[in-house]
Amino acid sequence: MTEIFYDSDADLSIIKEKVVAILGYGNQGRAQALNMRDNGCRVLVGNKKDEHYDKARRDGFEVLEISDAAREAEVICVLLPDEVQPSVFKKDILSGLSRGKLLDFASGFTVFSRVVVPPKDVDVVMVAPKMIGEGVRDLYLRGLGAPAVLGVHRDFSGNAWNMALGIAKAIGCTRAGVVKSTFEEEAVTDLFNEQTVAFLLLLKTAFEILTEAGYDPIVTQLELYGSGEWLEVIKAMLKYGIFGQGRLHSTTSQYGQLSRGPRIVNQDVKKEMRKILEEIRSGGFAEEWFRDVEAGYPELTKRRNSMINNALVKAEQEVRERIRIPPLS
Ligand code: NDP
Repeated sequence: MTEIFYDSDADLSIIKEKVVAILGYGNQGRAQALNMRDNGCRVLVGNKKDEHYDKARRDGFEVLEISDAAREAEVICVLLPDEVQPSVFKKDILSGLSRGKLLDFASGFTVFSRVVVPPKDVDVVMVAPKMIGEGVRDLYLRGLGAPAVLGVHRDFSGNAWNMALGIAKAIGCTRAGVVKSTFEEEAVTDLFNEQTVAFLLLLKTAFEILTEAGYDPIVTQLELYGSGEWLEVIKAMLKYGIFGQGRLHSTTSQYGQLSRGPRIVNQDVKKEMRKILEEIRSGGFAEEWFRDVEAGYPELTKRRNSMINNALVKAEQEVRERIRIPPLS
């Protein structure tokens, strides 16, 4: 049975007695550093000397170069973007690691894909909040927490799991509940979700079909997502369940979705999703992506560019200018 842990299962004092380095003061870095400090932990920040460095200083942290922070600290939280972790790990982190230190990741991807290979004599854990950084901080300030998925890649000290739980408590996640998992499970489910629950492309395709058929771009964009109705639907899904929330919609909507949906999400889609799962599990996706990273992102740039100048983007600009969208106003 899936094991879930809460505040009362975690010991914060084992983190408080160590020096913690937060490497990268971005989305997760800032939120986790602030939450840990509010919980009484001794936190250093490691960052290049630029705007995130200045921001950490303004927030009152001692900020060092990444290599110095990794050398000083006993608990090292690698909160850098996944694609920069391999090079920064080799260049700035590895030399600061010594026997018995602990490395913590907020995602299982780089270790599971073996593009980051930690030495054998350190603990390697994952505390992966299932929440954007802003949410991790915001929930904490409201006395709540973001759920997280935890794993141990290497237990050198014999205490790695307890340390992972302690970190999760320090950032507020055990308030909600944290799930025992593995680096592989977190990485595979995370990438699979990003790659196959292809909501954005589905919306873009629906927009193209409706406007090509002569329907007004503004009406279409508002209908598809521009009104913010999806925010309410997601809230209702969390409250009443994925199908339980159906009763908030008209019966026409329910009948249409349940009768037409299977023609879109059909066996071919399932077959393709399984192929994508295999590419993730085999490391094929990671290999392709890191090839693009090393080449300076030519594929990503080409694909991004193909998305920026289209009729949907123009329609959404117009909606933003002319309509007061409830969640934003
Ligand atoms: P960000 O993109 O917000 O990280 C930005 C930070 O990384 C900045 O401090 C930046 O420093 C530093 N950085 C970027 N490139 C380099 C580089 N080449 N060398 C040194 N430092 C660099 O990362 P996230 O917080 O989004 O992600 C961090 C980890 O958390 C990842 O493993 C991600 O998968 C995981 N995660 C992220 C979530 C999210 O909310 N985004 C949710 C859950 C997990 P600089 O000042 O130089 O810009």
